[in-house]
Amino acid sequence: MNNVKIKVENLSLYYGDSPALKNINMHIYNQSVTALIGPSGCGKSSFLRCLNRMNDFIPNTRVEGNVYLDGLNIYSSNVELIELRKKVGMVFQRPNPFPMSIYDNVAFGPRLHGIKDREKLDEIVESSLRSAALWDEVKGILTRSALSLSGGQQQRLCVARAIAVKPEVLLMDEPTSALDPLATARIEQLIRNLKKYFTIVIVTHNMQQAARISDVTAFFLMGELIEVEPTEKIFTAPEDQRTADYITGRFG
Ligand code: ADP
Ligand code: MG
Repeated sequence: MNNVKIKVENLSLYYGDSPALKNINMHIYNQSVTALIGPSGCGKSSFLRCLNRMNDFIPNTRVEGNVYLDGLNIYSSNVELIELRKKVGMVFQRPNPFPMSIYDNVAFGPRLHGIKDREKLDEIVESSLRSAALWDEVKGILTRSALSLSGGQQQRLCVARAIAVKPEVLLMDEPTSALDPLATARIEQLIRNLKKYFTIVIVTHNMQQAARISDVTAFFLMGELIEVEPTEKIFTAPEDQRTADYITGRFG
């Protein structure tokens, strides 16, 4: 747990003139799950998007401060965004498979990065679907449209698509909020397995989920990082009264 993968330093984010994140400082550790919790609108998604510069897509946003990935500043001007997003993949709140076959969804990223060899692609598709705990359900229907899958399967497909390019970090923004309890449990199990290979940062509004799957939990409130601690500590002995109030359900 002492292996820092991402270092966030004095990070502030503005949409127009309004600050959405205020001077965040935080370490994110390799091969661990970091959960971001806090009430709606506190800046969790904004923070997550700062970690692979997805906010670059939103007009009138301004970022101050730095984010280091393995010691390299991702906001420096010579960073290739395609390369950055290959290293730092993302899974969104609603499953968003492309309207194409299951196979092509997973092969999409590798193809984008220049892999054309069919055997190599087959291998990546299979191993990614296996890692996403979906292979056994889809191995016979790889050419079928991804949109024909259930919501839970689609989300695992999105995980497979994200890991197919072998990222180092996986960002997940409330990946189970559109799923039923069974599909949620499968994704949570998947996350626990994937942390052996990736650094995972997950936004969740579900505190039980944070407690179940994360090693470290960060509590945000109105754009500020109030407290970041080992998950067990934050849920049993938080330092800040606001954290205590939130996790005991007094607000949010
Ligand atoms: P959370 O994910 O914790 O619910 P967000 O990061 O989505 O919070 O939002 C944090 C704040 O930033 C909110 O006040 C929200 O209204 C604002 N915000 C988020 N996205 C945008 C955007 N694209 N343009 C302007 N304001 C935004
Ligand atoms: Mg959000």
